[in-house]
Amino acid sequence: MAETRSGEAAIPDRQLLIRGGRIYDHDGDIDDPAVRDVLVRGSRIASVTAPDEELELKREIARRATVSDEARVIEARGKLVIPGFVNSHYHSYDVLAKGLLEDMPFDVWALHSQPAYFGRRSKAEIRARTLLGALECLRSGITTLQDMNSLVPQDEETLDTILSAYAEIGIRVVFSIAVRDVAALDIAPFLPADVPEAAMAIIRGAPKDAREEIAFVERQLGRLNPLPPRLSWGLSPSGPQRSSRALLEGIGDLARRYQLPIFTHVYETKAQTAKARAIYGEHGGSMIRHLGDVGLLTPRTTIAHGVWLTRDEMTLMAEHGSGIAHNPISNLKLKSGVAPMQAAMQAGVRVALGCDNCSCGDCQSMFQAMKMFCLLAAVGDPNPTGVRAADAVRAATLGGAHAMGLDGEIGAIRAGMKADLVIIDLDDVAYQPLNSVARQLVFSETGRGVETTIVDGEIVMFERRIATIDEAALRDELADVMPTFRRDFANIAEANRLAVPYLLAANDRLKAHDVGMNRFVAS
Ligand SMILES: [Zn+2]
Repeated sequence: MAETRSGEAAIPDRQLLIRGGRIYDHDGDIDDPAVRDVLVRGSRIASVTAPDEELELKREIARRATVSDEARVIEARGKLVIPGFVNSHYHSYDVLAKGLLEDMPFDVWALHSQPAYFGRRSKAEIRARTLLGALECLRSGITTLQDMNSLVPQDEETLDTILSAYAEIGIRVVFSIAVRDVAALDIAPFLPADVPEAAMAIIRGAPKDAREEIAFVERQLGRLNPLPPRLSWGLSPSGPQRSSRALLEGIGDLARRYQLPIFTHVYETKAQTAKARAIYGEHGGSMIRHLGDVGLLTPRTTIAHGVWLTRDEMTLMAEHGSGIAHNPISNLKLKSGVAPMQAAMQAGVRVALGCDNCSCGDCQSMFQAMKMFCLLAAVGDPNPTGVRAADAVRAATLGGAHAMGLDGEIGAIRAGMKADLVIIDLDDVAYQPLNSVARQLVFSETGRGVETTIVDGEIVMFERRIATIDEAALRDELADVMPTFRRDFANIAEANRLAVPYLLAANDRLKAHDVGMNRFVAS
């Protein structure tokens, strides 16, 4: 079966039979999933059938598998097959900063992690960090990620280095170039009056030109069209408060003309919320209404975080079909507050899940994200909340698919959909005894059970061995680039330390600032 859709290379009629596994079906028995065989042809699922159906065909594939590489059988008895997870919010630029930071509020963390402070990095470093982040995702059953990436410098070589690393490792990526033309840290308006100029220069950053940002993005949409298989485009203003009206309208125009999904940070922190109240006066201080005004509140829009949304704003988002990429771990690690996900779901806002940066979650694990999604509902409500394991699995798969603009393509195991599949070992202690697949996937699995990861019909990891890259060679590449990265990281932290006390003072002032809601638990 040759693929003819634009952006997909012709794939020969390879066949993969995954035999005898329990197949997770969102609409089926999620506690005790039925045993089924999944037949993959090329990049797509051809059929999902009971073991005694299509027996002749299955025997023929098994026979072919013994003589040809064009057919393969994976025995999945005693295993669970789930749709690959969609990591709906992620940035690959700080993968190498994993484990370097903790106990920092958002804006202080930004001083240590934002690409603008790091300047140009070597191609070897960009390649190594891109591969490493993708590798971590694949190992934990993530088959699609949304990389919202700030290119520094914003040039084609940097972009091509990242995209070729993704093409090599074989993960599905919706890639967006993060743009902003307002450089200052979000908390800047709340600084005390006595900030010395040297610290202000760090906090203020260097603004950019909206037209140049849009022109660069549009040039890449034209130049890299189509992208290699598994890669596609998204659009990302970094955040409304970091963008002029012209920049946001320019992104809206590109989204309409190229029919692309939009991802942007909204209401991650109280500082951003307070700033919105101050600068969006004509919209009652609402960042969401401002997004609507500039044409960015659409069914293709997904906001990352949404910690400080009001109920009215959730209703407005639901009316426009916009969604949230919920990042429970980074929200907590950066002290941003607890997102009102129960209320958002009740309002009808669609939900996806993300793991966010490697320096503010330190782990690309949808298992952690799903569990926290369910557990955090208890922070605001001692009663049953209706946020269940099955909702978390849906958000991590179907919700992500919708956010990526890949509805009907990924997120479920159905004939005709892309074969993005993960095989999990049910002999793992997380599933012993097996009482409920959905609950044990969300509350018991740590990632240990993930054995095999298939993306676009390709076996990217088989029985925990990555098939597409040489992991030992990647560790060598990392060893080569880390001395320079560590030295630069330490120098940046030292240079920016000057600004930290003022940011903490601003953060402290914000504690008492009324934005009409609270997203912290009072102690
Ligand atoms: Zn982010």
